[in-house]
Amino acid sequence: MAIPPETIEQIAAANDIVEVIGSYFPLKRAGANFKALCPFHQEKTPSFTVSPQRQTFHCFGCGVGGSVFRFVMDYEHVDFPEAVHKLAGRAGIPIVEQRREEKGREHEARRALLKLHADAAEWFHENLIKRELGASGRDYLKKRGIKSEVAKAWKLGYAPDSWSGFCEWANGQGYGRPQILASGLVKLREDQHGDSDFYDRFRNRLMFPIFNDVGEVIAFSGRVLNGDSGAAKYINSPETPLFRKGHVLFGLHKTKRALIEANSAIVCEGQLDLIALFEAGIQNVVAPQGTAFTEYQARVLKRFVDEVVLCFDSDLAGQKATERSLAALLQNDLLIRVAVMPPGEDPDSLVRKSGRQKFEELITSAPDFFDFWIEKKTTTADLRSMGAKMQVARDLASTLANVREPIMRGEVIHKIAARLGIRAADFERLVNENSSTRVGSPDSTGDVSVPVPLPSHEIAMLCLLALRSEEARAFLREQNWREALSNIPDTELLAKILEANLDPSDPASLNLFQTTLTPSEESVVSGWMLQKLPANPAEVAREWWNGLQRAILRRQLEVAESRLRSPNLSTGEIVQLQKQVLDLRGQLHDLRPFSSARAREP
Ligand code: ZN
Repeated sequence: MAIPPETIEQIAAANDIVEVIGSYFPLKRAGANFKALCPFHQEKTPSFTVSPQRQTFHCFGCGVGGSVFRFVMDYEHVDFPEAVHKLAGRAGIPIVEQRREEKGREHEARRALLKLHADAAEWFHENLIKRELGASGRDYLKKRGIKSEVAKAWKLGYAPDSWSGFCEWANGQGYGRPQILASGLVKLREDQHGDSDFYDRFRNRLMFPIFNDVGEVIAFSGRVLNGDSGAAKYINSPETPLFRKGHVLFGLHKTKRALIEANSAIVCEGQLDLIALFEAGIQNVVAPQGTAFTEYQARVLKRFVDEVVLCFDSDLAGQKATERSLAALLQNDLLIRVAVMPPGEDPDSLVRKSGRQKFEELITSAPDFFDFWIEKKTTTADLRSMGAKMQVARDLASTLANVREPIMRGEVIHKIAARLGIRAADFERLVNENSSTRVGSPDSTGDVSVPVPLPSHEIAMLCLLALRSEEARAFLREQNWREALSNIPDTELLAKILEANLDPSDPASLNLFQTTLTPSEESVVSGWMLQKLPANPAEVAREWWNGLQRAILRRQLEVAESRLRSPNLSTGEIVQLQKQVLDLRGQLHDLRPFSSARAREP
């Protein structure tokens, strides 16, 4: 989309929202606003409201709302560019799409890189399927029991055992040096004269193309054929304009449908596990690219499913690896169950040996993660010993600290406390201590960065003020809001509002801002647009902001003080923590609410 923001703002200014909506159905004046029966939900009394001053619509019944663009998109079922074009046409504004050339060049480079990846995938694949140099790759497939249809379906390939096989092929295909370098399929080396040359990144490896979710090849993962060569088992393409590490879930382009239908994802470690399960008919599977789940991957997964089933190796090392995924998954409110593989088996070998039904039984009977975890910890530790009990409680608290969803958190806290025979309130305190030490530096005396849970109405009030009042907005933007908000969950929208270059008194600029939001953010914002503003917004903003600062400081103080109580601190650490406590108390003192500050003055 290359329509410049100034043009969008101009189009918003030229289309009065009351006139636009009024041209679709009649609006009735009600005080400062206009009302109608909502076209987006069934109702008998009108809650659909249009504000000529704010140039916004909002339905107090179903919650939809937003800019004039949002209305046209939702009412006419068109996308954003089309809504912009329609409204531009209505107002007679020509749209000059700028930077087309620049966009074009970018697009062109991307297209070329995609083509190189598609061609490379084909070449690797043909090496594996029919060329003589691919014999060792084919032996490996045979050993792993991978049929050639499966190799075709996943476009598996083979990178020859050579330093220049790929380079020579790519040169021969007419790909230039910059393109080949940009693909990441080669590496640069410099000789002692400073001349550089490149060589194949993937050598003597089974190649798994990594697809994006529309099925284009964007990178590769290469697996060694024999494990004892000392080389890394898997290597992946580096980051390129096409490929962001930690963003891709292997197999998603094929498994999306099944994930949505099952509302549950079976998570396995390797590409071969995933392929074996998929080909056996178990298709709601993902693999996080050989590493632990990242925040981003967990968020992507949450769009498709509410639950994941982790396939745990029966050995400890495998479990440790899987446990590293827990934080990201729990933070995204995914329910987790755990399927432990029988000793010596992985999903690939198990489904081959025992078949689909047995594997599905294992998945169906997989226990809830926390049940599994409590069971495991309490069978290996002697809970009659206070020390062991404390250790188990600490371990569990540190994992549980990732869960933000309050109902789930409360439920698990009670379950664990009952099982360990400790008071739920005590255990909850332990969990909260862990939540507060999670963010920030790992050493015990470093700067404390603490997530501060705040009632959402405080954040909402600050959003309202930052959107609607020039003075409040100016005040807030002068504060260290970026740093402060990074400590507080669920403040992305407030950050967007403060970040944006918007003018609270100009409805067109507010309309432009709303086009940068998601539909649900836009409906929230449109609600704020119609709310009453306090009489003295700047003062209110100052008060709420100081309150928020105090909450952050109090939380940091709590953490520092509790660290000070922990055993085995060195003298240096104690001194540093005491300094920190004094400093935080001083800062808190300076931020006292005005009235009490004055009352204490002599
Ligand atoms: Zn409605």
